[in-house]
Amino acid sequence: MIFTDDTIAALGFVAALGDTVPEASESGADELATAQQLTAILDAWRYSGRRDGDAAEVAAVAAARDRLRALWRLDRDDAVTEVNAILAEARAVPRLVRHDDIDWHVHATSLQAPLAERILVEAAMAFVDVIRADGMDRLRACEADDCEGVFVDVSRNASRRFCSTRCGNRMAARAHRARAE
Ligand SMILES: [Zn+2]
Ligand SMILES: [Zn+2]
Repeated sequence: MIFTDDTIAALGFVAALGDTVPEASESGADELATAQQLTAILDAWRYSGRRDGDAAEVAAVAAARDRLRALWRLDRDDAVTEVNAILAEARAVPRLVRHDDIDWHVHATSLQAPLAERILVEAAMAFVDVIRADGMDRLRACEADDCEGVFVDVSRNASRRFCSTRCGNRMAARAHRARAE
């Protein structure tokens, strides 16, 4: 595999978070608008650590989401600048931790740091792995013409084109109709 399991999981969370914007979400609305929506995505990804559950936290996570969506699309050298900035701003210090039922792994912030900061730093640590592996081309944008979704392409031959089966099926149906006309 091109990246470690930790990195793939972290990038999967970032993509899921990124795909809550109206241009990518299934509902076509901002799916990170309420504390309940934030809780749902955190629970789905078993995201650990501090949660305030208030509007300020939702706003901070939404801002982190937008910053990470921008990072996703940068070329490798520009991504380095942004990753280093995120790590410096948070004064990130890597440490081995063991919590819940997860064996020793690396965190670069405290579990008590604000959620948005932990999301940014965990993403930045995943990007460290991506950049070192020269794998920025695996961080993809959906090719559906009406979707701004993002996804991690972990397919063997780097051939994945759509953020979701929903987009893949929609584009296949459209291509089929175009051929039938
Ligand atoms: Zn952890
Ligand atoms: Zn899509």
